[in-house]
Amino acid sequence: MSAFLKLLARNQLALAGLIVMGIVVVLALLTPLLPLADPDVTNTPARFTPPFSEGAWLGTDHLGRDLLSRLMWGTRLSLAVGFAAATIAATLGAAIGIISGFYGGRVDNIIMRFVDVLMAFPYILLALAIVAALGPGLMNALIAVAAVNIPFFARNIRGITVGIAHKEFVDAARLAGLSDAKIILTEILPNVLPVIVIAMSTTVGWMILETAGLSFLGLGSQPPQADLGSMLGEARNALITNPHTSIVPGVMILIIVMAINLLGDGVRDALDPRLKSGALNRPLPATLVARPAGYTAPAPDGEAVLQLAGLETQFHVGRRTYRAVGGVDLQISPGECVGLIGESGSGKSVTALSIMGLVASPPGKITGGSVFYKGQDLVGAPYERLRSLRGRRVAYIFQDPLATLHPLYTVGDQLIEAVRCHRNVPKSEARAHAIELLRAVRIPNAADRVDSYPHELSGGMRQRVGIAMALANDPEVIIADEPTTALDVTVQAQILTLLDDLRRDRGLAILFITHDFGVVAQLCDRVAVMYAGRIVEDGTVDDILAAPAHPYTKRLMACVPELGGGRRRLEAIPGLPPVVDNLPDGCAFADRCDKARDACRQGTIPLDPLGATRRVRCIDPELQEASA
Ligand code: ADP
Ligand code: MG
Repeated sequence: MSAFLKLLARNQLALAGLIVMGIVVVLALLTPLLPLADPDVTNTPARFTPPFSEGAWLGTDHLGRDLLSRLMWGTRLSLAVGFAAATIAATLGAAIGIISGFYGGRVDNIIMRFVDVLMAFPYILLALAIVAALGPGLMNALIAVAAVNIPFFARNIRGITVGIAHKEFVDAARLAGLSDAKIILTEILPNVLPVIVIAMSTTVGWMILETAGLSFLGLGSQPPQADLGSMLGEARNALITNPHTSIVPGVMILIIVMAINLLGDGVRDALDPRLKSGALNRPLPATLVARPAGYTAPAPDGEAVLQLAGLETQFHVGRRTYRAVGGVDLQISPGECVGLIGESGSGKSVTALSIMGLVASPPGKITGGSVFYKGQDLVGAPYERLRSLRGRRVAYIFQDPLATLHPLYTVGDQLIEAVRCHRNVPKSEARAHAIELLRAVRIPNAADRVDSYPHELSGGMRQRVGIAMALANDPEVIIADEPTTALDVTVQAQILTLLDDLRRDRGLAILFITHDFGVVAQLCDRVAVMYAGRIVEDGTVDDILAAPAHPYTKRLMACVPELGGGRRRLEAIPGLPPVVDNLPDGCAFADRCDKARDACRQGTIPLDPLGATRRVRCIDPELQEASA
């Protein structure tokens, strides 16, 4: 709730709307207590007193009634009717929408066709027809306005409900034996409530206007009762001679509707979950680069196809700075497979995305270091250069194969697009290539499968399609971000074998991100262990598996169960990784390490060489085991 208010307050127009609306509502509530003249007492000798006269601040109307008093009472009535109509319309409309969307089928069909019929009439005409049938009067105007708005809510809410009614958590509630009514109240309603509130906040102003319109035509509030619409209607004849009688209620309507609409927009923005995650400030095509002034890149290593040198990536969210990647050095030679391993949240994905400038900006920013592709620094390279490399020389495979494939295109179309994005080949040739790619990743019946949609394939096959897509342009480097985490072990083994074969056949370099040491052992030549945005140990897989030097690596390996390894206690690492917006001094792992001393918590611990091919970021590495 407080987050919602904060978001709302950030939108200054909405805040202004909230304040104005607050004042108006408080005044309307206090009206009976204020020392006002009776709004309905006529005093014809004093008719059309101009504003700012004694005893009548806003003047009087054509019957000599005090305009200030009528304005206050009228505002009170108009607000009450507008809110009541909105509440009735929202409640009934939402109920109809939820029932229709939840039960579906024939119920849905009948209700929605009826709603369609109502929606086919012009709004105000329908309201007029209802009032004509019921007879004039404020209550009937309220009913009419509520009735014409019910279809709007019903349609909106039905759409949302249809999307929710078949989600797994609803099925789970059914399995648990909950009744339909209970499911609707506890599972569906909370999910559609924000939408109802949003729809209400954006239509209240409109309903106040509609009620005022009916009153203006003499169909709403009846004399002598004042509401804003009837005040305007009565002032119509004196519009030229005594304009203040029209201006007073007119300005009030303007103020109320403006304030409500500004507030409604603010409420909608603050409640929309997509806006919270920043999805509406569209990310730039390449990550922003803000390296310190006078940054000079180190000399690149000639052998590596991809080399990260001191790479730093941060997220700036509000006043906080998350140092997701805090100076990573990593090298990948042609044909080599390097594993990047670490707990969830240690910065592996951000490291991988930084390489091709794919971290979303805002809030992401590369704040230091270089990424060399064959000796060329890509950090700060022009977007066109990055684009020509993405997918062509450096390709990605992501974790969730269903989310990376477009559900509405066949896998063939998507492969063809990947090919033609970088190479100007005719479609038939690209299609032949797509089939070849599907064969390469061992999809049976490739020629038929090419016309399948993603949902027609199994998880393992979809991941193969993901790999095929990464291979589409014969890249030199593949960055695989936990590509097998979503798969079961047999399929995982197949995918790993496939990647390994491809690497040997095509001389691919692979950066393989995982949190599973078993996978690293199977596939990688070298491995880098990441913790809180830094590499804490790297070296060849054989060395590290035989004798981990960093306490974190050791603990991480102790978490891996061994098949046939006898009964061994699995050691979980106590505690949690530090949050990267507030990293401690010294070793980030110190708080979870049994060997931690005071010296561990001071200064920056460097990544020191340990033997010829290893490096470790620890002042007291586990040497005993290394020599044993
Ligand atoms: P993983 O190692 O599991 O792939 P990530 O690289 O995704 O971890 O995330 C590393 C850190 O960066 C996490 O602590 C996360 O909180 C932070 N982070 C990632 N994306 C964002 C973002 N858009 N805004 C703020 N922080 C982020
Ligand atoms: Mg990740």
